[in-house]
Amino acid sequence: MSYQGTQIIINLKNLKANLSFIKSKVDKKTKIMSVVKAFGYGSEPVKISKFLEKNGVDYFAVAYVNEGIELRNCGVKLPILILHPQLDDFDEIIKFNLEPNIYSFRILNAFIKKSNSHPFHLKFNTGLNRLGFSMNDIDELYNILNGKTNIKYLFSHLGASEDLNEKAFSNNQIKLFEKISKKMEAKFEKKFKKHLLNTSGIMNYSEYKYDMVRTGIGLYGYGNDKKYSKNLKPVLSLRSVISQIHFIKKGESVGYNRGFVANKNCKIAIIPIGHADGIKRSFGNGKIGFYIKNKLAKTIGNICMDMLMLDITNINCEEGDDVIIIDDKIQTAEDLGEKTNTISYEILTALSSRIKRTIIDI
Ligand SMILES: *Cc1c(COP(=O)(O)O)cnc(C)c1O
Repeated sequence: MSYQGTQIIINLKNLKANLSFIKSKVDKKTKIMSVVKAFGYGSEPVKISKFLEKNGVDYFAVAYVNEGIELRNCGVKLPILILHPQLDDFDEIIKFNLEPNIYSFRILNAFIKKSNSHPFHLKFNTGLNRLGFSMNDIDELYNILNGKTNIKYLFSHLGASEDLNEKAFSNNQIKLFEKISKKMEAKFEKKFKKHLLNTSGIMNYSEYKYDMVRTGIGLYGYGNDKKYSKNLKPVLSLRSVISQIHFIKKGESVGYNRGFVANKNCKIAIIPIGHADGIKRSFGNGKIGFYIKNKLAKTIGNICMDMLMLDITNINCEEGDDVIIIDDKIQTAEDLGEKTNTISYEILTALSSRIKRTIIDI
């Protein structure tokens, strides 16, 4: 890449390979809902969605209504599930032909005031204790919906699908979802379509794929388990450049609050990415490093808003040289997550939308 600055590179070939791998875990007739919330997990939502739409997904999901409107305004045609709608969202949901997750009586009542024919997804809480109705709500749901059948899907969400030590917990969630589904179908006297699994659910509990699966992190190339690193390829890489090099004498300090004081002569590089871009302030003072000429250069001092400093004392490099922050080999988002007490999801979604995106098409 010749661009002299910080950029995110999106590799659509990897995205396509990840989608194929995920599809290989389910049946041909299982629909794929691709989750593109949070700026496409930090990558770029619109071009990714348009690419996925052309390459065989059936559905999209985003968290909030403005994310769904953005996709519609850019010409995305497939159904879009809004995972976390609020009371005031239903005019826009209907206008932009989005499908809300209906998760509580408060939300249901606001929604049916606006429409009783618009399709929606009814969510049940089976143990994550986040959004959703419980099994005890079914009679009241029936009374309110009065046999109306605009429920497009029943769904729930697993809380520990990536953790094989929690198999008993996940199996209980699945059992409860089955029970709830049976009770709903008996009460409403009809069959409902269903979806349950996220990426790790697809990897570990694929027999419960039902009619559709929801995949986010897997599409972007992470499987919450090293054993998938052959099959899932990180879609996003993040690179930068050395803006300036300084030689620091013993006793001098570097950065705000004199975060680093040199106990010997050293050489530092200034990099145009900071905490406003998603490299958190807590990643300073050597917590993480980036790669220059294949060598690890650790952060030095405090991370600034728009830049940070790296220790390059032992690296033979020049101003203008490439800096690799995240890629699919030398340092993945998962690797950075391991060093900073978090997960790939948080590293990726923290990346600011002000970073230039470059899309590498197939
Ligand atoms: C974000 C989200 C997903 C996607 O999960 P991944 O682990 O990224 O595949 C699926 N379902 C719900 C309800 C979500 O909120």
